[in-house]
Formats: sequence, C-alpha cells, structure tokens
Amino acid sequence: MSVLKLKNTYTKSLEVFQPLDSQGRRVTMYSCGPTVYSYAHIGNFRSFLMADILRRVLERNGYEVKHVMNITDVGHLTEDDVADATGEDKLQKAAREMGWDPYKLARHYENAFVEDARKLRMKNYSGGEASEPELHPRAASHVPEMLAAIQKLLENEFAYVDEQGQVYYDIQKFPEYGKLSGKVIDELEAGARVAVGEHKRDPRDFYLWKVDPKHLMQWDPHGEKGWDPADYERYRQLLPKGVDQRIKPGFPGWHIECSAMSRAHLGNLIDIHTGGEDNIFPHHECEIAQSYGAFHTHVPGPHGASDEGSPRKAFARYWVHGRYLLVNNKKMSKRDGTFYTVRDLLDPRSAEREELASQLEQAGFKGGRVPANVIRFALISNQYTQPMNFSIEALKAAGNALERMQTRYDKLREVVSNGTNPDLAGVASDKVLELVSKAEEAFDDALNDNLNVPNALAVVFSAINELNTMELGPAEAGEALRLMESFDEVLDVLDRSARSGLITREQAASWLDSETLKTKAGQLKHWAEAPDREQLWEMIEAGQLPMYEDLAPIEQMDAETIELFVAIRQNARKAKDFTMADAIRDELKKRGVQIEDTPQGFRWVLG
Ligand SMILES: [Zn+2]
Repeated sequence: MSVLKLKNTYTKSLEVFQPLDSQGRRVTMYSCGPTVYSYAHIGNFRSFLMADILRRVLERNGYEVKHVMNITDVGHLTEDDVADATGEDKLQKAAREMGWDPYKLARHYENAFVEDARKLRMKNYSGGEASEPELHPRAASHVPEMLAAIQKLLENEFAYVDEQGQVYYDIQKFPEYGKLSGKVIDELEAGARVAVGEHKRDPRDFYLWKVDPKHLMQWDPHGEKGWDPADYERYRQLLPKGVDQRIKPGFPGWHIECSAMSRAHLGNLIDIHTGGEDNIFPHHECEIAQSYGAFHTHVPGPHGASDEGSPRKAFARYWVHGRYLLVNNKKMSKRDGTFYTVRDLLDPRSAEREELASQLEQAGFKGGRVPANVIRFALISNQYTQPMNFSIEALKAAGNALERMQTRYDKLREVVSNGTNPDLAGVASDKVLELVSKAEEAFDDALNDNLNVPNALAVVFSAINELNTMELGPAEAGEALRLMESFDEVLDVLDRSARSGLITREQAASWLDSETLKTKAGQLKHWAEAPDREQLWEMIEAGQLPMYEDLAPIEQMDAETIELFVAIRQNARKAKDFTMADAIRDELKKRGVQIEDTPQGFRWVLG
C-alpha cells in the first residue's frame, strides 16, 4: 500500500506523513474551528470538510486520530487580516446588532454550527465524539490556559506589558516569524499596524491580551470579576501566584487562544494543524511564535524533506491548509446573491432566499432544497490544494454523480438481499474480485497522494461503469457492495439506510410495553442526542404527539427510527387512541414513509 503524503505549508513541499508517536499509531490533529458570530458559510465548511477527509484518510491508514476543533467565541476582531488586529470583536458586533448578550449569541451560532456539521457528516461531530467537550473547546472557557501561556511568555521575555496593561508579543525575539507564510520582513511590516498613542517595540508585535473597557466579555486577572466560577478555580490552580500585576482586566487575543487550547487538549507538540489558507498569516504564524516563546516547542522535520529530521521551531509538524472558495469565479458576495451558508442551500425558503430556491428548483432540486449529502459531495470533490469554484451547476453535477453512485449501491444491495438466482454461481468470479481489489488500491493511492479526491472519485466512477456492464451474482454483488461501502468510509455521501422493510406482528407486539419502548428509543443515536429527550418521553407516555422535529429530522429517517414510530403507533392503537395512531401515520407520510398493514406485519417503504 502507498504511504500518505501531505503538502506541508511550513516547508512548501510534499512530505511523507509520520506521526510523532513512537509506536506509530496515535495522531494528534488540531483544526481552527468556526468563529460563532453568524452561520458558517460553504467556504468555511470546505476547510472543515478537508480536515474531515484528512482524518478519515489517516484512519484508513491505520492511525488512531484525536481530532480537536475549537469554537472561537471571544477575541476575534473584525479587521483580522493583520497580525495585531483591530476593530470590534466579531461576536460583540453581531450581538450588539441583534440586541443579544454575546454569550447567548455564541451559543446560538455554536448550536447552529453543530447542526450543520452533523448534517454534513463531519466525523468529529458524530456519535460519542459530539458530546466530548475537550474535542470542541470553547475559547471563552480556556482563559486560564491562555493567561498561563501569557505569563510564560512574559517570564521567558518573549512578551511585554504596555502602559495600558495590555500584553504584546515581542517579535524581535523570534526571527523565525514569517517562516510559515514565507513572508519577508517588509511584507510583515506592511501587515502590521500601529495606532496613535500605542507603544509597540516593533510594528509587527501583536497583542496577547487586550484592554478595552467597551468590550463586553472581560476577565480580571487579579480577581473573580468576569469569571465563570469553575474557570476561576482552575485559573487559581494553574497560576497560584497569579500573573504579572501590571496586566489589567481585558480579554485574550485570537491567536493565543489556539496555542492554549491545542496544548490543553493535545499536549505541547502535535502532528497536524489545519485551517483555511487565510489562517496562514497572521493567525498560524502567530500561534507558532507564541507556542515556541512560551514552551520552546520543537518538532522534528519529517523524513524525505530537504532538511530531514532537523528540528523546527514550531509546535505542529505538518501544517495543512485548504485553499479558498469562489462562487461563479468571484468572491462570495451578499450583494450578488452568491453568499451561501449551508442552511441557505438546505432550505432556502426558510432562510428567506426565494430567488435561490427558484434557481435550485430550475437546476432540478426538488422543492429548491439541496440534500446535505450533495452539499458534502460538492465541497469535498476537488483537491484542497486547488481553489474551488462553487456554482449551482457544480452542485447539480455533484447531485447527478451522487445519484449514479446511489443507484448502483441500491441495486447491489437488492441483488444481495434477493440473493437466490439459481443461474448464477454462489462464489464471486476472479474478474469481480480483481476489479474490487484493484479499485480499492487505486482509491487509497489517490487519497494518500496528498488527498487527491478527484482522482479517488475517478476510481469510484470507473468501477461503477465497469460494474454496470456486468451481470452479478449475489456473492459478486456482495463483494462490489463492500467496495462501495469502503469508498464511502472516506467520502460518506451515500444513503446507506434501508429503503424498505417489514416489521413482523410478533416484533410489534413485543414493543407493546412502555419499558421496552423506552429502551428501544434510548438506543437510537439521535434520540440519545435530543436535548429534551425526557420531555419527549413524557409526551409519548402521556399519549401526546411527540415533537417530531426533535424525535427525528427528516434526513435521519432510517429503519430504526421508522420502527420506533411504528411501535409508538401500535401503543396508541392498543390504548384505543386512534387519533394519535392516525396522526403518526400522517407524520410518517410527510417524511416519505409509507406504511402498509399486511397479514405478515407492517411493511414500510421510504420513498
Ligand atoms: Zn485557530
């Protein structure tokens, strides 16, 4: 099997991936996550999905990946293209415009982000990982770790406190500043800012701690004011002697956040750091300077690089950046109507984008809505090292390609489940076995070659074309089905849930008991994740209609969920509550599920 190679922004070269772990098994990866002041747009998700694909490819290579993606809920200022950003806090600005408290605003957009991430099947938000806070650290909850890093920077003389009680990074102490972005000193100075009355030693210096009485989120480094009690307790433990007395109440700079959170949850050194290319400078450049200044972090240079093995003053060994996204070959623009959030595409009418809805309808999307797996397909389908041009035509092409994949997958499954054609042998032919093994190998080779998804997709479709010309027996269809599922471990675009099924009368009867029903409900993934599951349960027990949207959003209808609905309906029937039983049937119908009562039981079809 081929080895995984990645383009390392730090060296600008293609390098063989090798983990820092001496056992060669575990991989640590940090991805800069969303700033939660609005709905994340498709350009943001392109970079998050790149991290998702990278993580899945690492897993396919046998690594165990710990993937941390943070939530920025404080300190990200509006003018963020210079290292020493200025302007208002993005969150505070949005909160002011909406008349909300910034914390409330942050939670609102964080929840929306999580919802979108799940719909787009980001693995770090699926299953148990979704509820592990250390994998999704919030900046506002890591101020103790940030102040600890700032204090270290001061002690190591990589930072200084100005007259206003703010802390600046002293860039002259770190000559490697600029190595990641490849910027030379003139460019760095051009990307710096000095405000009137400000006392910086070098225009390139950037703040680590900012003092601004107008800022709504404030922490007092010398007292309890502004702190969440648990965070304050941790702060006292981390820094029993506190920080430099000259530091005034304020808030952290955006860059120090990621240095602190990455260290808190992954340790001093990490294997991979990802982000969008707009993060390279200043954000990641500053992260490197901070982590080195505070903790003297060095990572070995990967083998196969020109400076093989020699240590680098950085805390991440591989820096992987996704390139930008354009819409219709232009920058996304609200004025041109080409600014898309994920939810705009999922349901433009709810987002009050009537014009987008009709454009999508014209392109063949039913109801003007784009299914989440089509959006995922479109956003992962080109290589991350290339800019992406997004358009409705590209979405349509993604939809068509996915449909071909899905149709082949469904047919294969049909052959496997009907599996008794006597004319066809029960063992797979060498021809099919060879096709499967070659395709799988070529797919891996493409992905290991710096995540070349276009080449990997070419392998998928050439396999599908070949399979389409063959008449497959059940054993062969089984092999081909396994191949498609193997592709989908990385791509994760197929609808792999059953499209029809039968619930026997015996099965249905066994659920006519509230404890069994409750256990059954508890086993469902989205039930377990529902925020008000106790309330849902009380409603069902009281014979009221549950809140269906919470119980199972439409795109989550699968065999288990349908079974649960049928079980609730049977319980209603038993209690002679036919209004409720009929309401459940209608509700299922709305979700595309037809239920037919047959002598064998309940046959359902998801259309
Ligand atoms: Zn970051």
